[in-house]
Amino acid sequence: MSPTGISILGATGSIGASTLDVLARNPERYRLYAVSAHSRMDRLAEIIRVHHPEHAVVSDEAAADKLAALLKEAGVRCSISWGSEALSEMASADEVEVVMAAIVGAAALAPTLAAARSGKRILLANKEALVMSGSLLLEAVREGGAELLPVDSEHNAIFQCLPAGFDYGLARGNIVKLLLTASGGPFRTLPAERFGDITPEMAVAHPNWVMGRKISVDSATMMNKGLEVIEAHWLFGVDAERIEVVIHPQSMIHSMVQYVDGSVIAQMGNPDMRTPIAHALAWPERIRSGVEPVDFSRLAGLSFEAPDPVRFPCLRLAYQALKAAGTAPAILNAANEVAVAAFLAGRLSFAAIARLVEETLAAIVAVPASCLDTVLGADREARSVANALLARAEKSR
Ligand code: NDP
Ligand code: MG
Repeated sequence: MSPTGISILGATGSIGASTLDVLARNPERYRLYAVSAHSRMDRLAEIIRVHHPEHAVVSDEAAADKLAALLKEAGVRCSISWGSEALSEMASADEVEVVMAAIVGAAALAPTLAAARSGKRILLANKEALVMSGSLLLEAVREGGAELLPVDSEHNAIFQCLPAGFDYGLARGNIVKLLLTASGGPFRTLPAERFGDITPEMAVAHPNWVMGRKISVDSATMMNKGLEVIEAHWLFGVDAERIEVVIHPQSMIHSMVQYVDGSVIAQMGNPDMRTPIAHALAWPERIRSGVEPVDFSRLAGLSFEAPDPVRFPCLRLAYQALKAAGTAPAILNAANEVAVAAFLAGRLSFAAIARLVEETLAAIVAVPASCLDTVLGADREARSVANALLARAEKSR
């Protein structure tokens, strides 16, 4: 059997690094066709030197020139292209069967749609694209004959806890609910009166996972779990009422499915994204991931608690957007991207992230997400409203 061709969108990120690690452990099965990056050209050049993809895609001409110079210096050959069309091409090329969607944020939407329309197996790490345009992405997957496999650890866990052969989107009479576990993030036990002291450095220091900066802040506000509730709704066709969030600080159980007979099936493993990546890559087979097995003799205990809606209002906002439907999740996502970037830049306090999202949601009327232009229009409008609110908040500081 010839090796499977793979493109990695967002190869320089945390998920990109874990994916490259799993591929390197299974060289007989996979051939790296293309990699993409946005700003970290040094890292991309090093990835190309070590992993030998045929093709690299970057966001603009200046980045392409920088990469070309770095590769020339290192004596490494690889074709380079730039821009959004090139990104969609590397996700839909004939040489590719599997596409890892690991670009952060709304920028992942267009190439993920391209992969869906051209019938690829999509390993979906990015959650923002599905949150923005769930029905459109699923439609493209159906029409293109693609496969959408969840890499987000919770959704991958649920996928593993469902009976084999379950189609996405079917009404599941025998499932009572999906239980999404959440670590609670670095501020799970921090009293509300100390939330004013939270700095970006504190927020990106996650207790159990090493991740990119944006998702780390989302984990700290619990917006990450909110986005995951919406992601679960689309992936598994389950309403908001049947998706429950459970705080589980040890991050050993990655999520659970509760059935009508009282059974709860959980998926367990050390918190390392290489497990869900390896699972989605090889499904329905299993391959090496490099993750250590759980050592039960050293496992002190597993605990569970309910989320605190007062200190972590983002979770409620995500449920609210999911219930409002249409373009509301796209508005939520765009406002959150603006708020997180402003927080990381020192322009917004931690507690103000949720406020900015709530005010943006309240300022824009959601409409049915009937086509991509409508969704992208809602995304643009929400960014502009959120930026205006941000400017006003800065003035009054
Ligand atoms: P990182 O920030 O580590 O990496 C993001 C990647 O996207 C980088 O390759 C970056 O390029 C690229 N990128 C950023 N902005 C753009 C843009 N405008 N256009 C094109 N490419 C861009 O993020 P993570 O790897 O942590 O997360 C990636 C996605 O996976 C996110 O959506 C996240 O929610 C999801 N995810 C991550 C998990 C984790 O454990 N890390 C777990 C579950 C889901 P460059 O570095 O060159 O700027
Ligand atoms: Mg997750």
